[in-house]
Amino acid sequence: MSIFVGVNFFTENDKKDVNCFTYSHFMEEVHSGSIAEVTIQGPNIFGLTKRGEKFNTYAPFNPELVKDLLAQNVVVTAKPMEQDFSFWQLIIPWIPFIVMLGLGIYSVRQMQTHGNNVMGLSKSSAKIAEEKKIKIKFDDIAGVDEAKQELMEVVDFLKEPQKFQKLGGKIPRGFLLVGPPGTGKTLLAKAVAGEAGVPFFSIAGSAFVEVFVGVGASRVRDLFAQAKKNSPCIIFIDEIDAVGRQRGHHFGGSDERDQTLNQMLVEMDGFDSTQTVIVVAATNRADVLDHALLRPGRFDRRIVVPLPDAIGREKILAIHMKKVPVHDDVKLGVLARSTPGFSGADLANLVNESALLAARHGRSTVRMTDFEEAKDKVIMGAARRSFVLADEEKRLTAYHEAGHAIVSVYTVGSDPIHKATILPRGDAMGMVVSLPETDRTAFTYEGLIARIMMSMGGKIAEELIFGSNKVTTGASADIKAATILARKMVVEFGMSPRLGFLYCDIINSSYFSTKEISESTAQIIDEEVRAILSSCYEGAKSTIIQHKAQLKKLAEALLEKETLSGEEVKYICDSDETKSSDTDDSVDSINISQTTDMNQI
Ligand code: ADP
Ligand code: MG
Ligand code: ZN
Repeated sequence: MSIFVGVNFFTENDKKDVNCFTYSHFMEEVHSGSIAEVTIQGPNIFGLTKRGEKFNTYAPFNPELVKDLLAQNVVVTAKPMEQDFSFWQLIIPWIPFIVMLGLGIYSVRQMQTHGNNVMGLSKSSAKIAEEKKIKIKFDDIAGVDEAKQELMEVVDFLKEPQKFQKLGGKIPRGFLLVGPPGTGKTLLAKAVAGEAGVPFFSIAGSAFVEVFVGVGASRVRDLFAQAKKNSPCIIFIDEIDAVGRQRGHHFGGSDERDQTLNQMLVEMDGFDSTQTVIVVAATNRADVLDHALLRPGRFDRRIVVPLPDAIGREKILAIHMKKVPVHDDVKLGVLARSTPGFSGADLANLVNESALLAARHGRSTVRMTDFEEAKDKVIMGAARRSFVLADEEKRLTAYHEAGHAIVSVYTVGSDPIHKATILPRGDAMGMVVSLPETDRTAFTYEGLIARIMMSMGGKIAEELIFGSNKVTTGASADIKAATILARKMVVEFGMSPRLGFLYCDIINSSYFSTKEISESTAQIIDEEVRAILSSCYEGAKSTIIQHKAQLKKLAEALLEKETLSGEEVKYICDSDETKSSDTDDSVDSINISQTTDMNQI
């Protein structure tokens, strides 16, 4: 009702001398016979009294009214509602509703174009990033020469598709970049676009996996539709394993992923020969991908992007050092050799951290000491000097770390120690870091056993020195690491005599899919893991007992200096004993191994 308030139905002239009657006053006037004429327009009544006075009023619904008026000889005119209404008079009160309706329609539209997601949920993650001018070139990437070579071919396809199609050849469509995180997969895909000068469309696989069924699939459709309009171009799908896992193997929420994957397969098959759209996908888990994705015509070209070797690392360091002023004392080769297991991203981070450290020290160039310090920071996390350990805790940590170090030094197959420290870093109370001397690509049995033994050394030393009543929770990370490694030896590496040459995919076989391991096999696995762990434990324990003197010296040195380099550890261990054989060069691992002791309860 109140909608009409303030809207007047009179012309400008009438306006001045119109009285506003209450309804009861109006009825009084009617009954006293003083109304001459009225015009009724819906509930609005305006009229003229016999005194010549203009008035208006607003009537409640009253079917008797007209009868009363006619009984008093009032001239009654009735008008339909709209008659005097101007457009605006009608529309103004409705404006808030019209605006709301418009917003409603708009948001429904939005939902449709972005799939059926409710209230624009996760709209931003659906954004397809398009970059037109990519400046990254192959020269910005190093250490992955084979991958670069293969991708140069793609650049040629994009530049001159006709040349290859002339003889009836079909240009390959899908390339799968496989490699650990930070090795430059994204960078390589961008460089292809940069070299060929074509647009680059990218989306992460995780953006396809939504709670709402159908959203992922419609995003795939959008992505490919956009790309086709911009041919020639590149589509880059990062983390494709998020959507491309084998169908039917997972439990819960699989419908959405299956639909998305199916849509992707449809799109991969749906290019016509005039379109030059290259689809590059990246993953570090190629083994979990659905086989349908890898069929000819889809992602049939697989390009491995490995961790860089020493020479590669040197080149990568050189690329990133171009951006910072480097002092002459920085030896690239030395740095490259002492950073095995570092990815391109780690190296980029190393250079950046060094520059920041140099700036903090007020230097104008970055020196080798900055790089060394930054390396420790990248490997071990930043030191927390403000975090002061209570004396007792410090002693315990020192013996714990010394225990790791002693086992490492006296076990055949261990990697040399890089640093031992009781300076809290990140969330660790202390740690012993060992680095392989050179790049190697496989683990040996001996090396794995040495690692397990080393991670046990901390707790054993605590027990030996302080008694089993004083043992702390500090070894939980060590226990976990040792167990995981022992389990892998049994189920993945065929290193258990009882289980033998058998692969048991415990992690990927869920309880809900077909059971791949029988009860009896599972029991053997348990027993074999236990056997490895307990024999390692015995070995580590006897090593520490045998070298208790060195353990004490090492722990005291750690208490005094907080951080010891690998050479210092060796020196202390060797000093009062004739040489003991420790490192065996034929053994190694790809990664930096470290025992990190968490401050956890
Ligand atoms: P990925 O996609 O494999 O996880 P990225 O391509 O995102 O790795 O690399 C992250 C960053 O690390 C890059 O921006 C670059 O600075 C650096 N980087 C990684 N690999 C290399 C490489 N091979 N050469 C030069 N820089 C690299
Ligand atoms: Mg990436
Ligand atoms: Zn430990």
